[in-house]
Amino acid sequence: MASFPNVTNKVKAFSIKCSATAATPLSQSQDLEERVFNFAAGPATLPEKVLKKAQSELYNWHGSGMSVMEMSHRGKEFLSIIQKAEGDLRALLNISEDYAVLFLQGGATTQFAAIPLNIVKPEDSVDYVVTGSWGDKAFKEAQKYSKPKVIWSGKSEKYTKIPSFDSLEQTPDSKYLHICANETIHGVEFKDYPDPKNGILVADMSSNFCSKPVDVSKFGVIYAGAQKNVGPSGVTIVIIRKDLIGDAQGITPVMLDYKIHAENNSLYNTPPCFGIYMCGLVFDDLLAQGGLKEVEKKNKKKGDLLYNAIDESKGFYRCPVDKSVRSLMNVPFTLEKSELEAEFIKEAAKEKMIQLKGHRSVGGMRASIYNAMPFAGVEKLVAFMKDFQARHA
Ligand code: PMP
Repeated sequence: MASFPNVTNKVKAFSIKCSATAATPLSQSQDLEERVFNFAAGPATLPEKVLKKAQSELYNWHGSGMSVMEMSHRGKEFLSIIQKAEGDLRALLNISEDYAVLFLQGGATTQFAAIPLNIVKPEDSVDYVVTGSWGDKAFKEAQKYSKPKVIWSGKSEKYTKIPSFDSLEQTPDSKYLHICANETIHGVEFKDYPDPKNGILVADMSSNFCSKPVDVSKFGVIYAGAQKNVGPSGVTIVIIRKDLIGDAQGITPVMLDYKIHAENNSLYNTPPCFGIYMCGLVFDDLLAQGGLKEVEKKNKKKGDLLYNAIDESKGFYRCPVDKSVRSLMNVPFTLEKSELEAEFIKEAAKEKMIQLKGHRSVGGMRASIYNAMPFAGVEKLVAFMKDFQARHA
């Protein structure tokens, strides 16, 4: 009889081992060493505390025995998550009960269509102030569902300005006035808001959402993609005055109809559960920091440091944006010697400061310094800029 040396007659006990429970977590110090300062415009850097908290809850959320990613969106666990997220956002922005808060999908780009579809008719006039590429995109999409007019455009001045509100020639019967509160690519930010002569004010706040206090009662609709200041991509937040809901155009797809989402508390279909959970962690963290007034102070400090470094460089660095409307979130700048820009970006990346390349449509550099960018990140960038200038001036 042939012998099989590797096979024993004994039946081995079958053991079930869960490899995941045995996985060793990365040590904290290792984590920190590996992190970069990420100046990306979005998806963008998230608060370290929030990432750690999500990491600690990832495998088993609050003793539920499952991850947020695995939960039913109709279960009590997720309901508590989305309700807390909404409650915390309402507290942060002091949003009254006159407004619905919706957690949607499709990005701010989807809202470019959803806004006219929901709140005006195809023959209605609506006004757009175009201070950058995003406002322009919003205007173009609105052409399919309404009669929009660009009442002011900064294009001829390369989107470096915001008009004086007195000079705006608003269409008398316009149903709304649309602005992009912060132009992510051009770095132009409204510091105050125009009053619509007629109708309501609508704002795309994607890239400065929750970066400072905002008087929500001035607006009919505020919308924002989450992936800059408040979470991962995949969540779009819409804050809308309730009396504007419920009269969508007949062609409005069910997924774009605010009434459907408001009536179902953002749970008409499967929402982006994990993204909403992450936004909730960010809101909680912003409240813990003392709310948006405190957050704004920190953002001003970071913005001042960076803009001063640019302005004091004797023209080595330049920011083209009008000083009074420079964004505290996205800081575009160029080098006088533009041939050095690629080198600047390469050397910065070596120093673990990444994503400093300007948008392909404008070139140069752009440092996005959202809420979650630590002061130390801007300090490091400024120190690098000075050193780079000393070596290349
Ligand atoms: N508006 C602004 C101001 C943006 O910055 C962006 C994205 N960068 C958008 C709209 C489009 O957002 P999304 O990619 O989420 O559709």
